[in-house]
Amino acid sequence: MWTLDFAREQAPTVDHLFRYAAQSLDAGYDTLGLYVEHAFDFPSVPWVSGKGSLNRDGITKLRTEFPSLKVVPFMNLLGHMEGFLNTEEGSRFRETPYRGMQGCPSNPEFVRFCEGLVDDTLSAFESELIHIGGDETWELGRCPKCSQRPGGAMALYAEHFGPLAERLVRQGRRPGVWGDIFLEHPEALAAMPAETLVFDWQYFGGLKDSSPKLSAHGHEVVGCPSLRSYDAAWFHLTDSETNVRAVSKDARDMGLAGVCLTTWECGLFGAYDTLLPFVAASRAIMDDPELAPSFLESCPDREWTRLLGVELNALGGVFGPDGHRHRLKSRLLLYGNPFLAWMHHREELSGETGVRALELCERALAATTDEARKGVAFFVRGAVEFVRMAEAAHRWYAQDEPEKAVRALSPMRHLFDTLETVARRSEDRIGGSIADAERCRIAKRHVETVIRRVQSFGRRELGYLPAFDVITHPHFVPHDQTCWWGVNKWGDE
Ligand SMILES: [Zn+2]
Repeated sequence: MWTLDFAREQAPTVDHLFRYAAQSLDAGYDTLGLYVEHAFDFPSVPWVSGKGSLNRDGITKLRTEFPSLKVVPFMNLLGHMEGFLNTEEGSRFRETPYRGMQGCPSNPEFVRFCEGLVDDTLSAFESELIHIGGDETWELGRCPKCSQRPGGAMALYAEHFGPLAERLVRQGRRPGVWGDIFLEHPEALAAMPAETLVFDWQYFGGLKDSSPKLSAHGHEVVGCPSLRSYDAAWFHLTDSETNVRAVSKDARDMGLAGVCLTTWECGLFGAYDTLLPFVAASRAIMDDPELAPSFLESCPDREWTRLLGVELNALGGVFGPDGHRHRLKSRLLLYGNPFLAWMHHREELSGETGVRALELCERALAATTDEARKGVAFFVRGAVEFVRMAEAAHRWYAQDEPEKAVRALSPMRHLFDTLETVARRSEDRIGGSIADAERCRIAKRHVETVIRRVQSFGRRELGYLPAFDVITHPHFVPHDQTCWWGVNKWGDE
């Protein structure tokens, strides 16, 4: 099986779902996992489903059109509930005030809320397997109530998930859970029904160290590799293929219950359609981890793929694999201040690495006619160009040449217009992120604000010249020469 992450702003129509389902069957998958978190119209919590969420009608149509494909929901019922917790109604369930990704398992109202989500899911999906999540619950025991519960994090986790899994079993279903927290607290597995299927996600190696621990209480285990786009400018092709082969081989050798390929976070200009060839290639590897064709052999547009999936990553630095949500993408788009990308990557991208990355993008653009692949290349090129433009503007600004600085900043507006168009096309084509276009608009507005500031204060009208990182910062205030908003960081936490 493989899972599609719809929780990260993806907004698929029924036609998009059909396309994913058809490609899943064509590739030989018998099961498609829909990772939804909050992105589903749960009847018990009508306040949660944002625009573009999956709905029961879409699931019914999918089942009717593709009866041979099992469609399995992937929920999350403790950690990774940020989509619930950051709504007004859901904010009362947070384990950590004003932030975090986890609900409070000591709050009876939160437990009832999770039970409602389970019941909603049971009524919408007919699959035997229902995945109830449970990964990355790093906040366990943090709130005053939870910190006083006997047994600590292990007991909090077991006492939350055990009854929820039992609720599914009583309805004749099979619960699925992620394995990472059970690896930290193996005793918690004793609380899980025997039918529970444990998903051992290992994206950086095989399963030999982890899966035996997860099956110690007799539960069946599924090995989960990943196509790593979340920590790549586009995709770490070589590392992902190595991971899929290692997990598939270990799952076969250890006689595990199966393999579930995961794909995550196609927000921030990921495009699911550019990953589908590797979803298909992974299916062949699951059958024959040693001899199945390589990702590169299996894909169309091989030259484009090699340039942006192998050569770009080989430049290292911000383009290399580090397991972290991609730093350049995040800094360019997540914080309403694209100049963060300049602050952190100016040396790297203004130099040889930036030149080579731009060359690779140009060659990649010439190597494909496919809209999705061109969009990826436009985005990577745009991110690098932004940093280089900002550095050029900084140099002029520091030399008391504000007009020239403004001329260096001005093309950024067109850059974000272009990226907004790429994002809109991705929405139409594949149900891609509906937030990325908004991020581009916010970035463009901030660039315009910075241009006005440089025009107003770039000739030392304040008596001093604010540092370039200060005048480009959203918190900049004229005459606040000390930057109290920065010195006084506690107020912003
Ligand atoms: Zn709590």
